[in-house]
Amino acid sequence: MMKTAIFLGAGASSEDGAPLQSEIFNKYFGGLRRAGLSQEDDEERALIKYFQRMFGIDVAACDSHTLFPTFEEAIGVLDLAVMRDEAYKEFTNHEIRSLRHYIIKLMTRVISDQLDKPQEHHKQLVQNLIRCDKLGETIIVSTNYDILIDNALALHSQEFGLDYGIDFANVPERSTDRYCSQPDTEHSIKLYKFHGSLNWLYCPTCNTIELTPFQDAAIYPANCHLCGSQFSTLIVPPTYFKSLTNVYLGMVWVKAELALREVRHLIFCGYSFPDVDMHIKYLIKRIQSYRRHDLFITVINNYDGKTDESRKEEKNRFRRFLGMDVDYTDLCFGEFAADPLKYWEIGQ
Ligand SMILES: [Zn+2]
Repeated sequence: MMKTAIFLGAGASSEDGAPLQSEIFNKYFGGLRRAGLSQEDDEERALIKYFQRMFGIDVAACDSHTLFPTFEEAIGVLDLAVMRDEAYKEFTNHEIRSLRHYIIKLMTRVISDQLDKPQEHHKQLVQNLIRCDKLGETIIVSTNYDILIDNALALHSQEFGLDYGIDFANVPERSTDRYCSQPDTEHSIKLYKFHGSLNWLYCPTCNTIELTPFQDAAIYPANCHLCGSQFSTLIVPPTYFKSLTNVYLGMVWVKAELALREVRHLIFCGYSFPDVDMHIKYLIKRIQSYRRHDLFITVINNYDGKTDESRKEEKNRFRRFLGMDVDYTDLCFGEFAADPLKYWEIGQ
């Protein structure tokens, strides 16, 4: 059976109300300021110090116009320091490691706050694919850490399991309504998350991953049930992915590549094919060059206020790398989710 892959990028999440990477710190510190800054909390104090010393931002005085670094930048400078075993003035190595943890936690909170929003498009997409009996032949891949698509699929966890391509230490063999099932190959929906996921908790001591219940992003503080070590959320910002060594994410990539080889139609949703994602380009090129059959590619990434110029640039970005027959549409993710079948069959 020829399969179809849906590739979800940040644009799909933002259409469902998820905060953009560039808004995360404004949202977090805005909320904190309204609640009243406390100097009591170690974590809060560490974050305030970090933005003050490293980026010259006084969070007590910031407003919606304050220019924060992106999430990737804020965490990237910490990750590189850890990786290179270097430090920053006034920050110990231990503080640098803790800060990484705090920043991920901060992002988790900001994104969790959005989870009570309706997330209509993701739910609608899943429902429509089930209704026209297409979900079983669909592979979903995502560059997003958020769990919008996970939760939309989990609403149907009685009907099918979810296969992330990795095994979790805490998932029971039989699925329950709160957890997705362990991959049972045949009837599980494949969801490959290239940069990790907010509901994956990694224990660096045991080298295992646990899955948090659906509807929740990673819950902190959380310690490994086996050894007591502090979990870290398994997410990897894309910008310096090449240094990634985590074996679980490596597995996700291999499984995704194998699965995508069976795909006849690849539908990009909310993904702009940015230059920084060279590793994604590499993967897609590998799939395209492997071809045992034609690979049709559709791009759905329109949104309100998108300029003709940026559309043109984006179209060129896709076409120069993947070929002139890429179908670059003027649809937005919501339109696709409302009637996926309309754009499904191609090249028949
Ligand atoms: Zn452990």
